[in-house]
Amino acid sequence: MDFMETTINWSELSFGYMKTDYNVRCYYRDGKWGELEVSSSDIINIHMSATCLHYGQEAFEGLKAFRGKDGRVRVFRMDENAKRLQSSARGIMMAEFPVERFEAAVRQAIKLNERFIPPYGSGASLYIRPLLIGMGALIGVKPADEYMFMVFVSPVGPYFKTGFTPVPVCIMRGFDRAAPNGTGTYKVGGNYAASLVAGKKANEKGYAAVLYLDPKDKIYLDECGPANFFAIRDNTYITPASNSILPSITNKSLLQLAADMGLKVERRPVPVSELGSFEEAAECGTAAVITPISRIDDLDEDRSYVYSKDGKAGRTSEKLYNKLFAIQTGDEPDPYGWVKIID
Ligand SMILES: *Cc1c(COP(=O)(O)O)cnc(C)c1O
Repeated sequence: MDFMETTINWSELSFGYMKTDYNVRCYYRDGKWGELEVSSSDIINIHMSATCLHYGQEAFEGLKAFRGKDGRVRVFRMDENAKRLQSSARGIMMAEFPVERFEAAVRQAIKLNERFIPPYGSGASLYIRPLLIGMGALIGVKPADEYMFMVFVSPVGPYFKTGFTPVPVCIMRGFDRAAPNGTGTYKVGGNYAASLVAGKKANEKGYAAVLYLDPKDKIYLDECGPANFFAIRDNTYITPASNSILPSITNKSLLQLAADMGLKVERRPVPVSELGSFEEAAECGTAAVITPISRIDDLDEDRSYVYSKDGKAGRTSEKLYNKLFAIQTGDEPDPYGWVKIID
């Protein structure tokens, strides 16, 4: 069993899948959720007519566990992930998974795979991926009557290998990841499928991500593919409000920490025309916490907005990153009870 222990090179982990020992599953049948089950297989059996395969009944979450200096394992705001999965479930008519069960499943998945939790200071963490899918066999377009919830984990290295280094992003008005009154506020696989072509195009042109505009008028900023957007100007943390972006838990936490640091905070529609006035710009999400943006190239208007010329992150973004990461790992006090200890 300790074969892997001696072979995992924590400093060379990528942000990718690694098979661990166990995952936790739960099935919804006959109108109710069953007991949590433990599996050591990373294969699931699905009916070929299941709604997750045909009609996109699939939602997921992403969170991380960290080992602290004190050796204890911490997860960040998992109640928020549980509630968001419920919101996603309502959004695409799936059975909602109870919050306490979600937390119990996450705890169990972490504990059963304890030997895969990277050590303190390695920069790596245990990524946790809860998943909710429609399992019922149907041909007609309607919600399934059977669902499966599962949680698996995988040790991951830092999302961006280069570390806390600003990256360029682009605006391309020819693509949307979500519709104006569509599923943009839910964490569903369909939004990700819709973003793949634009993401690939952006990568090919040398950009880390696409900064999407509001899909209706293309006047306001939405978000960066799988991460929210924020900017800093005049001691103010500014992040878009929109009905087509995913409510990021990282962003919500940063808003609080920014206010605590004495910044003003604004969550409101942010027009593209403000891009030229920002001092710092960044993406935020669980995977990287904060990814500073060096430059936003508006490929349709042939304009460029530069936020970092020296390859360094802005001071406020860096302060926010250090603060949030320190709370997640237990290096600094957790005044809001965001962190839960897994023991
Ligand atoms: C998951 C996700 C985010 C980041 O949310 P966090 O809760 O901070 O991890 C941002 N945008 C989209 C579209 C997402 O799916």
